[in-house]
Order: sequence, then structure tokens, then C-alpha cells
Amino acid sequence: MTDYSDQHVQGQAQDSIVHPLLPLRDIVIFPYMVTPLFVGRPRSIRALEGAMEADKLIFLATQKDPKTDEPTERDLYEIGTVGQVIQLLKLPDGTVKVLIEGKYRARMRSFFDRDECVFAEIETLVDPPVTSPEVEALLRSVGETFETYVNLGKKIPAEMVASVAGISDPGRLADTIGAHLNVRISDKQEILSRLDPLERLEHLLAMMEREVEILQIEKKIRTRVKSQMERSQKEYYLNEQMRAIQKELGEKDEFKQEIRDLEEKIQKRRMSQEASAKAMAELRKLKMMSSMSAEATVVRNYIDWLVSLPWKKGTKDRIDLDRAEAVLEADHHGLEKVKERILEYLAVQALVKKIKGPILCLVGPPGVGKTSLGRSVARAMGRKFVRMSLGGMRDEAEIRGHRRTYIGAMPGKVIQGLRKVGVRNPVFLLDEIDKMSTDFRGDPSSALLEVLDPEQNNAFGDHFLDVDYDLSSVLFLATANSLHSIPRPLQDRMEIIRIEGYTEEEKLAIAQRYLLPKQLETHGLLPEQVHFTEPTFYEIIRRYTRESGVRSLEREIATVCRKIARELVKSRDKKKKFTVGVPQIKKYLGVPRYSYGVKEDENRVGMVTGLAWTEVGGELLTIETAILPGQGKLTVTGQLGEVMRESSQAAMSYVRSRWRELALEKDFYHKLDIHIHVPEGAIPKDGPSAGITMATALASALTSREVDRNLAMTGEITLRGRVLAIGGLKEKLLAARRAGISKILIPAENEKNLEEVPAVILKSLTIVPVSHMDQVLEEALGLSLPLPSLAEAGEYGAESDETVRH
Ligand code: ADP
Repeated sequence: MTDYSDQHVQGQAQDSIVHPLLPLRDIVIFPYMVTPLFVGRPRSIRALEGAMEADKLIFLATQKDPKTDEPTERDLYEIGTVGQVIQLLKLPDGTVKVLIEGKYRARMRSFFDRDECVFAEIETLVDPPVTSPEVEALLRSVGETFETYVNLGKKIPAEMVASVAGISDPGRLADTIGAHLNVRISDKQEILSRLDPLERLEHLLAMMEREVEILQIEKKIRTRVKSQMERSQKEYYLNEQMRAIQKELGEKDEFKQEIRDLEEKIQKRRMSQEASAKAMAELRKLKMMSSMSAEATVVRNYIDWLVSLPWKKGTKDRIDLDRAEAVLEADHHGLEKVKERILEYLAVQALVKKIKGPILCLVGPPGVGKTSLGRSVARAMGRKFVRMSLGGMRDEAEIRGHRRTYIGAMPGKVIQGLRKVGVRNPVFLLDEIDKMSTDFRGDPSSALLEVLDPEQNNAFGDHFLDVDYDLSSVLFLATANSLHSIPRPLQDRMEIIRIEGYTEEEKLAIAQRYLLPKQLETHGLLPEQVHFTEPTFYEIIRRYTRESGVRSLEREIATVCRKIARELVKSRDKKKKFTVGVPQIKKYLGVPRYSYGVKEDENRVGMVTGLAWTEVGGELLTIETAILPGQGKLTVTGQLGEVMRESSQAAMSYVRSRWRELALEKDFYHKLDIHIHVPEGAIPKDGPSAGITMATALASALTSREVDRNLAMTGEITLRGRVLAIGGLKEKLLAARRAGISKILIPAENEKNLEEVPAVILKSLTIVPVSHMDQVLEEALGLSLPLPSLAEAGEYGAESDETVRH
């Protein structure tokens, strides 16, 4: 056995001693570290034996390359650790297991072989004392970082943190921690090789921080990967479960059947090529989906829309003008001009086949039969009829539909209407086209323009359908109460047909010939069972309704029929006959709602009857004026619009210019306050046609002259007193007659319009055309004023009339 201890004893310097050398392959042993080693190489085993025979001390040096089997000096790191063997165990296979404790650092000075064993002459390295004040701080950060490091990795027992916390010597701390780090061998050796304890510790800290960072990133990646895996696993699992449930419920088969049905429908329906390609594409998508998913519902709904639209299906037009005329005649009384215009329109249709002309727009007050005329047109042409109300529509999407991406999206009303009628060429009535409005959601009227434009509507793009639909064979008709709120471009597309209100006589005829028979049938009564006398109809027309059309009249007749039906059932006598005379009316309809004729009971000062025209027809308009002491203020009250307010100013200017003729003081208005009031304004009125009425009321109040209550008037006034034309003459005359007025002043310019007024009306009224306000005052107040002549032109400035028209 080698006696190496001899050398030791033989006077080697204390700091240069010889120990057997144990080369380490993949471990760096630090001082204070206890570790088991398995030793197999014969030279290493001999070195261990040598150590056991002496003081159990052995020099532990790590190989630069673990693969070297017989390392020489160059193959080993210079700095190593002197360790003490605590335990040695020979294993049956000839290898040895040792437990070694690192004692202190040492540098290998030389390396030599002797007796098949390797020795190293070493120099003991002792940590120099540390005095730097940074030590404390460094110790603390190392402790904390180590703790983080331990928490991140799993390989170091948590107790280590506590045991490390007790170490205050920086060199020892670095060695203890360095021994536990999971880093490369070369990195560990680097720690071991740092001889200055502070430097060693700092290096360790930097290394640990780097490691912590890497570990944190690793951890992040791990969690991300894990959650991704968990999610996809969860989805997979749930999908599988759903499939199992569907299978259990037999829905899979149902779904397949549904897809087969849809496919068959797509193939059978005659659709446009684009639409059927689109439907097939969507069907393919549907197949891939779970039958109960929200997307599947959306796709299903979409395909359903595509297949149920009438792409090709249509009715055949039967345009026979005689028959058409008969149909129109049978459905509506009067309305000669309108019927004529419709027949002309149909005649053109018959000739050109494809409709390219303007759209007919029926304009008139409610209840004059606009909608029912539309229906008749459809009947006359042998087409189907569909109606779409545009009243209150303010969203473009209502016409053009919502994009499919919206939940609950639907096609627009045009497409909805077509699906409802089931043919591609119905008569399509756009009701109340004047009641559309615009807001932030887009302008429905611009969408409507596209619908109505014959140049574009063969490829109408509904947002929901997403494929073009051909609207060119639809016959569009429109209705409106008044024209002024219809956007200009829309008006230009339409040909306007006006339907005025009905006279009492016309109403009577309509009631007798159309409304009553219709209501009797609806209520299951026989025509010979119920008899309305003529005065009865008049009573209803005059005292239970006040309208231009016949809608309320029809409703009142329906009420009577309903009550009669009830009596009939009660009496058990199925054959019982009823005569509805004026006395019975009260029983059925209650007390009269309107007093017939609303003209004033007596002549009054400052109160004049005017005639107004509103969307629902003509109306009487009583204008009251009060004069009070004051300072020249003109107040106008009542439900009236801007234009009407301005005409009151014009009226005032005229009266002021006539102070002399009216026997007033020159500056009369400085000392007075004038109040003009327009009562009974359930419907706001506007327009300039009350101008002469206001001027008359002012003159009457200022001169204290009474106005004839049997007189009514209408006309626009200029500042100089000229009377200008007005609109709605027929409606106004009807209203005047309804009210029992006998004499009416109208602008001379309107005389030509009297042609359109039924003769019965003209017969019962005295109509006086006037061109100047002076004439009005003469008629109304009995004043005789000089008519403006050229001689007076200077005084009144009659040449430069400034109108107050807006
Ligand atoms: P509008 O669309 O103009 O408001 P409707 O078409 O709804 O009016 O007409 C109301 C009712 O009056 C309908 O039952 C209609 O048949 C009837 N009616 C209106 N005018 C006539 C007429 N000239 N002849 C026969 N019935 C009429």
C-alpha cells in the first residue's frame, strides 16, 4: 500500500501537502457539502483506499470533460476541494459507494502517479476575512433570491432556505448555495474557483438571478401550454358528451334528415342561380355544425329565407281594360278621374309588358279609399296584393334588412312582403310614404328610391339576403296624406294622383252602395233585414263623424250592425227586420258627437271664420282678435306654425296702412296691444291661407264692426293687401258646406279651380272671388274702401308687393 502520509509527515509545508486525488466526472464538490459518490474506476478506488488508510482526506477535482477515463493534470480543473470520507462501502460488483464531506478549498500544484494511484500536491486555500459593509445587503439579497429560486424549482428541499438563512459568512454561504444550484458543471466550477468570498457571492447572485428569470419564463410557458391543453381537452370532452347526448336522443338522425330536406328544397325550388349556389354553400356549412349550436340556427334560418322566397313564381297578368274598369267601378263610387288615370296606366302596362314608368302615388286625406284602390288595381290585373306601412319608419334597415351578423337579423320589409304573398309580381302598396322619417340609423327614403328605381331594382340588394333579388316585375303603388313631407327625389319618381274628400252626397252614396252592404255581410245580416233611411245616413255623416273620407262613417255603420246582430240573436226571431231611422241612431251610437255646422251662433266683433286645409281634409278655422290698451304689442297664440305667424304680421301691416279708411288714428297701434288667437287647434295648422281672415279680424276688432257669421274666407295676403291663391279649395268648400256657411270669399286666382268642385256644392254656396283685401273688408264688414288704383300706387306702393310666403 502506498505510504503517502510519509510525505506529509516528511516536512511538506503546511500549505503544500499531498493527498490522493479523486477525479470527479460530473459533479463539483464544495466545502461543507456532504454527498455520496459511486466510484468505479480502479485508480479512483485505489485513491480512496489510500485516503482511508491515512487521515481519510482526499483531493476532489472535477474533470473538464466527463468523458475522459484517465484524466491527467490538464484534464482537471485546478481548484478543487479537500474532502473527508465519512463512510465507505464496497459493493458486490467491485464498485465503491462513499459518503464524502467537503472540507476546504485547495489548488492543485502538481499531479503525479505512484503505485497505480494518482496524487496531487495541493495548496490549501482559506477564505480571507471580509470587512466590506456591503456584505449584509448582499447576504440578504442572496437569501431572498435563493428563496425565489427554490420556490420556482422543485428540486431543492424548502428546508434549505431556512438552513441557508442561518449562514452569515459570505464565502460559506456562496459554497452552500452553489452546491445546490441546478446549473452546468462549468458554472459550478466557476463559483468554486472564485477565491474572494464577496466576489464569489456576487457571482452566485448574478447567476441565480439569471436562473430565476429563466425559471419564471419556463413557468409561464408551462402554465400557458397547460391551460391551452386543458381548454382544448375540455372542448373535446364536451363535444363528445354532446354528441353522445344527441345520439341518445336520436337527434343526429333528425338533423341529417333536416339537411336532406333542405337540400331537396334547394334543388326543387326554382331560385336564381346565385341564390341556389349560396344556399348550397350555406348548407355545406350547416352540415359541419352541431345541430343545436347558435350558428346552426342562424344558417338554418337563412337557408329557410332563401328557399321560401318567390324567385321565379308569379301570376299571369290579365289586363283586359273592360274587365278592369268593371272591377274599379264595382269597388269604388265616384273617383272618376282617379279611375281613369289608373286605367290609362294599366293600358300602358298591357302594351309594354315591363313596368318602367313612374310609380303611382295616391295622395289624399285618410279614409278616401287609397288603400282599397290599391287592392282593386291588383284585382283588376289579376295580381296578388301586399301592403307595407311605412308610417313611423326611420331605420334604413327596415327596408333593406340587417346584416346576418346581427343576432335576430331579418330581411327588410320589401323582402318580407314578397315572401308573404309568395309571388314575385304582386301589386305592392307602400302605405303612408309621407310618414317616414330620417334619423341616425340611415335614411329609409334613399333605400326606397333604390326599390322604386326601374334601372336598379332588378338587382335589389337586401343586406340579409346577400344575393340580389329582382323587383322589376313588382307593381309598386304608394299612398300619402300630403306631399310636402315626401323627399323631393322620391316625389320625382312618382306620379301624383290626388283624391280629395267626399261631399255629403258622395258619402251617402258610398255608404248606401258599399259600406252598408259590406258591413251587413261581415256581421252575418241579410240586406233585406236591415234598412237605413237616407236621413239616418245624413245624421251619422253630420253628427257622428267629421272627416273628409269615410273611415269613421264605416266604423259607425259597423257599430250599428253589431248592435243589431246582438238584438237579433237575443230576439230568437231570425227573420226579424230592422229599420234604422234618425230616432234609433241615438240608441245605437249614443249622443251625437258633433254639432252639425260649427258656424258661430251670432255675429261678433273681431271673430272671423276662415277655412283651413290639413292632412285630414278641410276645416273651419275661427280667428279671434282682442284689442286692449297697451304699447303696440302683437301677440299670436294657438296651435299654429311659423308661416301662419308671419301672415299675421302681414295682416297687421296691411291694416296699419289703411288707418285712414278705417277711421283710425294714425298711430293707433302705439296705444294698443293686439291679441290674435286661433282656437281649436287639435291639428296644428300652418300655411299662409289664413292671411285675409286675420286681417279681417283685426279690422273688425279695431273698427268694432261685426262680421257676418254666414261668411267664411280663405286667401293669402301681401303686405299691401293683395289676395293670393291658396291650395285645397275643394276640401275647404266641403268643410264650409258641412258647417252650414253660405258665402265664401276665395282668391280670384283660384276661380279656375272651381271646375273640380262638384256642382252640388257650388249650388249651395255663394262664392265671391276677391283679388284685394279692400274687397274682403267690403264683403265682410260692409266698409267701402277705395280699390287701389294707379293713382294711389304711390301712397300704397302697390307695385312692389312683398309677399310673406315661405
Ligand atoms: P285610405 O287608404 O285612403 O285611408 P281606405 O282605403 O282604408 O282609405 O278606405 C276606408 C274604407 O272606405 C274602405 O273600406 C274603403 O273600401 C271605403 N271607401 C273609401 N272610398 C270609397 C269609395 N269611393 N267607394 C267605396 N268605398 C270606399
